[in-house]
Amino acid sequence: MPVKRFDKTPMPTQVAGMRAHNFLEVNEGYTEDHARFEAERCLRCQDPICVTGCPVGVPIPQFIHAVALGDMQGASRLLRSANPLASVCGRVCAQENQCEARCSLAGRFNPVAIGHLERFVADWERTQTQEAKPQITRTEKVAIIGSGPAGLVCAGELARLGYSVTIYEALHAPGGVLRYGIPEFRLPKDILDWEISLLTDLGVKIECNVIIGRTLSLDQLTTKMGYSAVFIGTGAGLPQFLGIPGENLVGVYSANEYLTRVNLMRGYSADADTPVAHGESVAIVGAGNTAMDAVRTAMRMGASKAMVIYRRSETEMSAREEEYHHAKEEGVEFHWLTNPLEIIDDGNGRVSGLRCQRMVLGEPDKSGRARPVAIPDSEFVIPVDNVVLAIGTTPNPMLTRTTAGLSTTPSGCIVADERTGSTSRSLVFAGGDAVSGAATVILAAGAGKRAASAIHETLNPG
Ligand SMILES: Cc1cc2nc3c(=O)[nH]c(=O)nc-3n(C[C@H](O)[C@H](O)[C@H](O)COP(=O)(O)OP(=O)(O)OC[C@H]3O[C@@H](n4cnc5c(N)ncnc54)[C@H](O)[C@@H]3O)c2cc1C
Repeated sequence: MPVKRFDKTPMPTQVAGMRAHNFLEVNEGYTEDHARFEAERCLRCQDPICVTGCPVGVPIPQFIHAVALGDMQGASRLLRSANPLASVCGRVCAQENQCEARCSLAGRFNPVAIGHLERFVADWERTQTQEAKPQITRTEKVAIIGSGPAGLVCAGELARLGYSVTIYEALHAPGGVLRYGIPEFRLPKDILDWEISLLTDLGVKIECNVIIGRTLSLDQLTTKMGYSAVFIGTGAGLPQFLGIPGENLVGVYSANEYLTRVNLMRGYSADADTPVAHGESVAIVGAGNTAMDAVRTAMRMGASKAMVIYRRSETEMSAREEEYHHAKEEGVEFHWLTNPLEIIDDGNGRVSGLRCQRMVLGEPDKSGRARPVAIPDSEFVIPVDNVVLAIGTTPNPMLTRTTAGLSTTPSGCIVADERTGSTSRSLVFAGGDAVSGAATVILAAGAGKRAASAIHETLNPG
């Protein structure tokens, strides 16, 4: 592959015109030659600051050095010791804002492709026979509520310390957003299944279809069921709506519902009987990772026109760089500085269009981003069959409303210590999106990891 030394080794991908119509993974992964070539770009800095950009503290220069030497076993041991979800994070982390942003090469040249190398090593590990696993050696049992990255990582860390761990998950399959939100073309479910199988091999039990706060209460876990500690990793899965007319029309979805129908309920497969729209013209409102996933899914579901509607500009959008780049390549339309005012009824209760107004950017708001301001008399209608709202989510109140003594913020997030995850309830810990509000996989994983060590220190001090 002809690459300049200071460029990142490009990630091989499926051709855009083809992949926009299938659910196969877009990125095809490095070969060993690519990986070693890219690893040799690492400067092995004396005082590496890339590591400070990683919320789980992956020993980045060391694992990359091992890749450069062709020691994949060593690289995978180093990686796995710090990141129990490496094959997931290698695919979905926004490295450009984290480790790669702090790479010494980043200022003048392209940073080392740390994420692509992480994915390569984790995928290599998947082809190897797994080593003997630690056993349950302790008497204390720990319950984990929610099987997203926070819960999975917390469970894995505790199992490695010898605790008996059970995860309770409301849905019928584990993984949280990694299962129901992030599509197959970005994170194949066999990768997730493999990561989860490593946990069940350690002895972690997973009970699906159990809603804590409905099927069982948190108090039942700690009293009748004998759990010594509980970790809450219930995420932020409650969708927000715009509050504009027409949101109840047939053909309007929250992105969570739309993606769940397609990913978790296999709506993409011809042999699944999941009711999900196959609109010709689909508008996604919002410009974060969820919006990119929804719009690219709509294309793959057969839309001839799939568009992103965002009231701010390209500069303010929060989606990962790679997702935006791939979406553009696949033919997604972007309508910047466009604010939806009404979803239009076709007269039979179905969506026929989106009435919008044009915006300009004003002074920064509380978030520090430029505030969008409406341009008078700039309204117009975009004809659409479906509207998918991807404008944010908040924590689901089911558990917090049914659990006495668990403090929450006004926005419904659980109050928890940042370092330990301890909450207002003794021996109840929390982390991930349920505490921070909607954030990222690696931050949730980091919170799960810190809470696991705090639970261990609490149950077995010294
Ligand atoms: C579509 C989409 C795309 C994203 N893309 C990216 C990306 O590319 N990169 C990135 O870093 N981040 C991304 N994110 C954000 C990231 O996925 C989340 O920050 C992360 O999954 C949070 O992990 P968590 O473990 O806190 O919660 P979740 O992953 O939300 O998992 C929580 C789990 O708890 C379960 N649960 C909830 N309440 C209960 C209850 N009462 N009882 C039992 N179980 C319960 C839920 O069913 C769920 O399975 C994306 C998010 C979405 C929605």
